[in-house]
Amino acid sequence: MRTPRLELYVDRIADNAAAIAGQCHDHGATVAGVAKVVCAQPDVLDAMVRGGVDMIGDSRIDNLRRARATGIRIPLMLLRIPEPSRAEEVVRIADISLNSSATMIRLLSQAAVAMRVVHKVILMIDIGDLREGVWAGAVDILRQCRGLPGIELIGLGANLACYGGVVPSETNMRRLVEVTQQCRVETGLELPMISGGNSSALPLLATGRMPPEINNFRMGESIILGRNVLDRSPWPGTRQDTVCLYGEIIELERKPSVPIGDRGQNAFGEEGHFVDRGTHWRAIVNLGRQDVAVDGLTPLDPAMRVLGASSDHLIVDVEDAMAAGARLAVGDEIPFDLNYGALLASSTSPYVRTRIVEEPPTA
Ligand SMILES: *Cc1c(COP(=O)(O)O)cnc(C)c1O
Repeated sequence: MRTPRLELYVDRIADNAAAIAGQCHDHGATVAGVAKVVCAQPDVLDAMVRGGVDMIGDSRIDNLRRARATGIRIPLMLLRIPEPSRAEEVVRIADISLNSSATMIRLLSQAAVAMRVVHKVILMIDIGDLREGVWAGAVDILRQCRGLPGIELIGLGANLACYGGVVPSETNMRRLVEVTQQCRVETGLELPMISGGNSSALPLLATGRMPPEINNFRMGESIILGRNVLDRSPWPGTRQDTVCLYGEIIELERKPSVPIGDRGQNAFGEEGHFVDRGTHWRAIVNLGRQDVAVDGLTPLDPAMRVLGASSDHLIVDVEDAMAAGARLAVGDEIPFDLNYGALLASSTSPYVRTRIVEEPPTA
């Protein structure tokens, strides 16, 4: 089969979605399944729906448009703060969007009126991660936007662990609840939804210390890769063998481990550091920086090691694998595990084919 090939095990992702959705539902919260790391691949969205998510979230309007076109019937939530230039598309495609300015909410109102729809808005506040969200003045924005036609202000939200790496805690989650309560009192709005964050919220949720008022979560990596995003350890009740990237050996040679000759920068302006490990079997695999974030690749065979990559060539040390009896040859496929960054890059690379793997149900 052709390579490079990204295989997605959708039934395993559906099981993960059921596990994560179950945890959110047990807390009394709804959950948005987020598949942006695989470019909102339709079969992955379907797996999330089968697993019981209540809505689909994505940071890109284009991904949500595709989700709508492929027949997703549950609500669609736009996660990235919308661009003013795309207000019409936002209200046409998304049911809910996350926002942080009165300017944008007014534009959404105008577009919603023109389109004769009602668009739901969550106001994002910043509780410390320093990515999106209002720093101060949530009440002011809600007052300015209260009563705008075509807009329903449904609640507040926050995001953590993305830019600043701030961990969800009882303190910052309570702050989100307190700001929401203050907004309810000062604006008279009901603001029923408090959207508490992404996969990084799971550990707090699991220990029972998540405030009960937080009633929506937006979960991506924990469903798709089955990981605790605070330390990347496997999340209990989920599986991690959900995605796999296959490359193909195009050259297999035994070579020294230190380049021969005077050295300058490589193709990416970096100066390499080479340790002399003697002469080793090296496989060149047809993967490179145009296909994947190379640092996020791990060969499934623990005896293999990625040495480095240029745009189109991945160099893998296969000396130990050969010594252990692997009979590698040009044309053999090599499977790799991917982290979030590697998966994001390979699912958006035009050079990588995606293959959906469906498995027969286990009895
Ligand atoms: C990507 C994203 C999510 C999902 O994050 P995961 O860590 O993959 O669960 C949630 N909310 C927002 C605003 C996002 O951009």
